[in-house]
Amino acid sequence: MILLLIMLMPSSHSFGLKIELGPISEWGLNLENNLISVNTENFETSVPRIFAVGDICSYPGKLKLILSGFHEAALAAKKMFTYCHNDKKYVFRYTTSSKDIQEKLGVK
Ligand SMILES: Cc1cc2nc3c(=O)[nH]c(=O)nc-3n(C[C@H](O)[C@H](O)[C@H](O)COP(=O)(O)OP(=O)(O)OC[C@H]3O[C@@H](n4cnc5c(N)ncnc54)[C@H](O)[C@@H]3O)c2cc1C
Repeated sequence: MILLLIMLMPSSHSFGLKIELGPISEWGLNLENNLISVNTENFETSVPRIFAVGDICSYPGKLKLILSGFHEAALAAKKMFTYCHNDKKYVFRYTTSSKDIQEKLGVK
């Protein structure tokens, strides 16, 4: 399973930033204007088990904000859970109120 979190690289040809996909552009992912198209339900790309979140992903209404990346990563992680633990039921919990998650994280 792959999570893609990339890539604003300084451009040598102009001011500002440009997207550099590099070898990822040859992975057979659906691309749109050099960005990776995703299913917004789970941020999976057109290739199963490859996910893209953050500025590299593209979907209608996408905002290139840190906040958006966190939201996208949470939904991607939820889907990844089903791939990694297909024998377990996904249970949604909050770190603020779940004692077993707090124990796993080593916080009280
Ligand atoms: C000037 C500016 C101001 C902003 N201000 C705000 C703001 O106030 N609030 C807000 O919410 N958002 C802001 N943003 C947007 C926010 O920074 C981005 O949405 C966020 O950083 C995207 O995170 P990301 O991890 O997807 O990509 P990035 O933060 O671009 O991280 C990608 C990382 O991958 C690295 N990388 C690239 N290519 C490779 C490679 N081939 N191998 C290994 N590593 C690679 C890059 O060096 C970089 O460290 C701002 C953006 C800019 C440009």
